[in-house]
Amino acid sequence: MRFVDFFNALLEGKVIGQKCGDCGSYTCPPKATCDNCGSRNLEAVELSGKGVIRTFTTTYVAPSGYTNEAPYTVAMVELDEGPWIVGRIDLPNEEIEKFGQDLIGARVSVYGKEFPTEPFYPDKKRRVVPMFRLEG
Ligand SMILES: [Zn+2]
Repeated sequence: MRFVDFFNALLEGKVIGQKCGDCGSYTCPPKATCDNCGSRNLEAVELSGKGVIRTFTTTYVAPSGYTNEAPYTVAMVELDEGPWIVGRIDLPNEEIEKFGQDLIGARVSVYGKEFPTEPFYPDKKRRVVPMFRLEG
């Protein structure tokens, strides 16, 4: 599958990964080879779109081109099928500071959000970021 399909699906609230026909494990985002065994025998599948926050960090001083988005919090989420993906936590910064370390282990669902600019790739018209919304 094409990498762009992953982002298009995210905008529809779906997380597409790949299931390995050799070892049965899942790879996400899509790659040419299985993260676990290196096989190219991969089939695109829709994942649950749910997972758990494993770690996160908040950026208060953003790099050039992203300053209007700060503060923002980037997290690594372990999807229920196993792969870890990187995205942003969809909460105002005050909420994130209130939760603090309690965010680690929190269950989230994944969707995609489109940002209007891609500062370092001017020919790219949009940037889709995986977003993590707390469940419950
Ligand atoms: Zn495999």
